Amino acid sequence: MTVFSQRKRVVFTCDACGSVLIKRTSYLSHQHLRHDAYVCDNPMCGASYTGHTELTGIASPSGLPNARPSDLPESPSYARNIALKAYREAQGERQLDLLDSIPANADH
Ligand SMILES: [Zn+2]
Repeated sequence: MTVFSQRKRVVFTCDACGSVLIKRTSYLSHQHLRHDAYVCDNPMCGASYTGHTELTGIASPSGLPNARPSDLPESPSYARNIALKAYREAQGERQLDLLDSIPANADH
């Protein structure tokens, strides 16, 4: 079952009672690996859990001109995202061209 918190994020639930788990602490053991501790939100239960979150790939490139390179491998969606970005930029330039072609006093 997928449970959403009040902020509409997908959250973990307690195996014992089904209540929402609240993230208590987290630390990075590596640039791309974060360890987390979770506590059950039900005060009568109080079970706690540990886990980790890992970045495993780069899904789309940075838009910064001097972006630092990433050690992460390209995700399967990487090539598609590059194509999509190029397409959107081309669309944006076309729209600017349309604005340029409208005379400044067109509303007279
Ligand atoms: Zn619980």
